[in-house]
Order: sequence, then structure tokens, then C-alpha cells
Amino acid sequence: MRENSRGMLLVLSGPSGCGKGTLVRNLQEADPTFVFSISCTTRAIRPGEIPDVHYHYLTDERFDALIEQDAFLEYASVHGFRYGTLKQETEERLARGENVILDIDPQGGMNVMKKHPDCVSIFVLPPSFEVLEQRLRKRATESEEQVLLRLSNARKEVLCRGQYRYNLINDALEDAVQDLLAITRAEKHNTVRFFPEIN
Ligand code: 5GP
Repeated sequence: MRENSRGMLLVLSGPSGCGKGTLVRNLQEADPTFVFSISCTTRAIRPGEIPDVHYHYLTDERFDALIEQDAFLEYASVHGFRYGTLKQETEERLARGENVILDIDPQGGMNVMKKHPDCVSIFVLPPSFEVLEQRLRKRATESEEQVLLRLSNARKEVLCRGQYRYNLINDALEDAVQDLLAITRAEKHNTVRFFPEIN
């Protein structure tokens, strides 16, 4: 028996502070067939982040040039900065059979769903807006202004959750990781990407 060799495009969205980054790390640890797509961004690097590992950090001019070259699968303005997913890199990885994780905002998520209807889209929710605020403040990576912007954007972003194939509540991390693994495991057997030959 042989598998269809095309990889899974996993689209993860959810408000800033809902724990997408931690879920991604846990998914990759448990299932190394998933590779993380490194986005381009015009926002400044945060302490602890590594260029070309967390993001490709670009100037506005460089970002404009990539738009001009049609290099993005999708791009969007999020919390006052621009973020984009590189098209060629993503397509090549999927063609090689790799499972690619996109951690992108709902504008980007919905654009990717249009271009890749077979993608597996998951919206991650915090248990409440109160918990979200606590997590954002505990993380202490953003200015007060950015925290307030991200909290007000969170209320708008969750309105898109019904557009996603799955919703996941990240309350207890271990449970959320298990739910994520259950979804990805089942989706590997979806006939859009798994169509075994039988003799
Ligand atoms: P952060 O600045 O906290 O790393 O990310 C802010 C938001 O931008 C998150 O919601 C994240 O999912 C989103 N984001 C990161 N990369 C991309 C991308 O390539 N495209 C889009 N549309 N959103 C992105």
C-alpha cells in the first residue's frame, strides 16, 4: 500500500496569547512530520527570538518588494504590522510530502482556506477573555499599548471561529495537545491526502 505523498497544510489561528506557539512546539515534539512555516514580518524582533527561526524580520521596503514579486501565499496587517507566508517554500514542502504548520491570523487563515480548501484549519480559543488578558500580561513581551490592542483584536478575531474546520479550547495545555494530536492523526487518514493503493 502507498500513501498519497502530498503533505497536510495545518492552519492554526487564534488570539494573541491563546497559546498557539506552545501547541505548535508540543505538536512538533510528539509528531516530527510537522514543520513550522517561518513567516515574514515587519514587526521588531522580541527578546529571545531568533531571526529566520521565529520569523524573517523584514523592512517595509523588502516586504513591499515581496508583494510586488507575488511571493506570498497570503499576507495581512495584524496588530499594526505586516505578516506574510512565503508561497514557494510552502508549496515545495507540501509537494515533498511534509506537513506544514501555519500560525497565522484569521484574515490570512481565510485566504489560505480559499486557495487550499483541503487545508486543516483549527481556531484556538482561550477559556475566557479574562484568562487571555492574564496570559498576555504574564508573557510581558508587549507594551501596554500592544496588550490593549491585542485584547481588543481578540474579540474581533474570535468572531471568525465558525469558518474553521475545528475549534480547540486551550484551557489545560495537556488536554489541548491531546485534542490537537487527535485531529492531526485523524486528518492524516482523510482521503484527500491518504489514498492507499491495494493489490
Ligand atoms: P506575534 O507578533 O505575536 O508573533 O504574531 C501576531 C499575530 O500574527 C498572530 O496572530 C500570528 O498568528 C499572526 N501571524 C504570524 N505570521 C503570520 C503570517 O504569515 N500571516 C498572517 N496573516 N498572520 C501571521
